[in-house]
Amino acid sequence: MNSRIVIAIDGYASTGKSTLAKMLSRQYQIPFIDSGSLYRGITLYALEKGFFKDDKLDQEALSEALGGLNLRFDNETGGLYLNAENVSQKIRLPQVSDRVSNIAALTMVREFLLHQLRHMASENGLVIDGRDIGTVVFPNADYKFFFTARLEVRARRRYEELKALGQNTTFEEVLNNLIVRDQIDSSRETAPLRKADDAFEIDTSKLTKEQVFADLLEKIDAK
Ligand code: C5P
Repeated sequence: MNSRIVIAIDGYASTGKSTLAKMLSRQYQIPFIDSGSLYRGITLYALEKGFFKDDKLDQEALSEALGGLNLRFDNETGGLYLNAENVSQKIRLPQVSDRVSNIAALTMVREFLLHQLRHMASENGLVIDGRDIGTVVFPNADYKFFFTARLEVRARRRYEELKALGQNTTFEEVLNNLIVRDQIDSSRETAPLRKADDAFEIDTSKLTKEQVFADLLEKIDAK
């Protein structure tokens, strides 16, 4: 396989995108990026800097700070570094999940990450998951997939993941967060979540990750 290949996996939250992207990255020996973690990193930064006042974001302060923000996704560990601090655990906190879609709806934030993501792919190819990868970030990606799954299945998966991380949350909280994020992500003006016309759609509700993986490999090899 060509080493500069780009594989884009978009879709709803907790449909298995990152898990499968990691598996493809190992299979084809190309780097992987979880683009959602970068949006979460910016959200965490805004929270820690106090840019939210009474839950209202100071957009000007965030805009000024973006230039000095250094986000690095470690492909080996799947970890995110924010100005050299490993924030992989913190970006999964509920206060981040509750605000990330509002931050991700800002055009200035999307433009900032668009350049970073394109640059990351220019050298070694990429497997990347997100919401707008096949539509906006890499419209010419070599392979595009779009994952869906039933809401209850997704909420159950995310709830189990968060519990395993030791987070104190309820199934209802997780479910509500997914509903709100789906709504904001699908209806925003800039780069809304939608399937690219040329993406393969996969409903992962009833499939194990091994079954999805086999399906992806088959579609990639057949192309
Ligand atoms: O993938 P994850 O669920 O961690 O993404 C968190 C949030 O980041 C999404 O709900 C969405 O608001 C935003 N996001 C985005 N575009 C991407 C990836 C994530 O808007 N390419």
